[in-house]
Amino acid sequence: MLLKFNGRQGIGTVKKTGEIKKSVPRAKAIKPVSKAAPRQAVTKPSKPAVAKAAKAAAQPAFNLVPSAVAQKEMNLLCQEYPEAECELDYASAFQLLTAVIMSAQTTDVTVNKVTPTLFERFPDAKALAEADLDEIKEIIKPTGFFNAKANNIQKCAQALVANFGGEVPKTIEELTTLPGVGRKTANVVLGVVFGVPGWTVDTHVQRLSARLGFTKNTEPEKIEVDLQKLFPKQDWSKLSITLIWHGRRMCFARKPDCPRCPVSDLCPSSMI
Ligand code: SF4
Repeated sequence: MLLKFNGRQGIGTVKKTGEIKKSVPRAKAIKPVSKAAPRQAVTKPSKPAVAKAAKAAAQPAFNLVPSAVAQKEMNLLCQEYPEAECELDYASAFQLLTAVIMSAQTTDVTVNKVTPTLFERFPDAKALAEADLDEIKEIIKPTGFFNAKANNIQKCAQALVANFGGEVPKTIEELTTLPGVGRKTANVVLGVVFGVPGWTVDTHVQRLSARLGFTKNTEPEKIEVDLQKLFPKQDWSKLSITLIWHGRRMCFARKPDCPRCPVSDLCPSSMI
């Protein structure tokens, strides 16, 4: 037991009466370490364990919120952005699908700058499927990663022609068979063009779902499942777009504008 004695710390024993029986000056109570004391074995963590710990440290652990709070947060965000909609320009399902593929690693604004030229030259799947690949690359160059993107959008167009009569299919199973099309891209097209509810788990939805306390998962597929459980199906597409708008306008990756945020009283990450 550690006690205060005459203003100094000392080690002693206390009778039931509270009287101090004996006090030993602190310096004397410290046993010298024997030179022969055996060293404790140090277990070196495995590389995967180190990587896992580093990943966990990089991901701030925010608290989950109850379902009712999650609903309230989303209601407030929907009130903040009643006009939220897909910000890519398009005139058909094919054009939106192509634009979404090109939006990887760039902004919708940049994609909207190249699509007028691209869709004027190649307005449908058949035209893009038969286009000169170098011409596609030249047009979409400003979007970055243009070699891979040109390949993807042309192969996607060719698959649409070969397997779906040049039309964009309306199910996630069919859409995700197309080159360059994952669940995120498929859900945008299904939700925006065909009114089929789905979560678009892009970088904004991933970040905001964690900050708002909707999920502790970090993989898009698992986040999608958590969001599906939390919100009514008919709202999924609208809520996706609302989160994306909030991520672009206020809940920025680096410096979220919490003081201005309508959910700052509810958000477990407010003022991070
Ligand atoms: S309070 Fe801050 S962290 Fe939470 S949603 Fe709003 S801007 Fe993002």
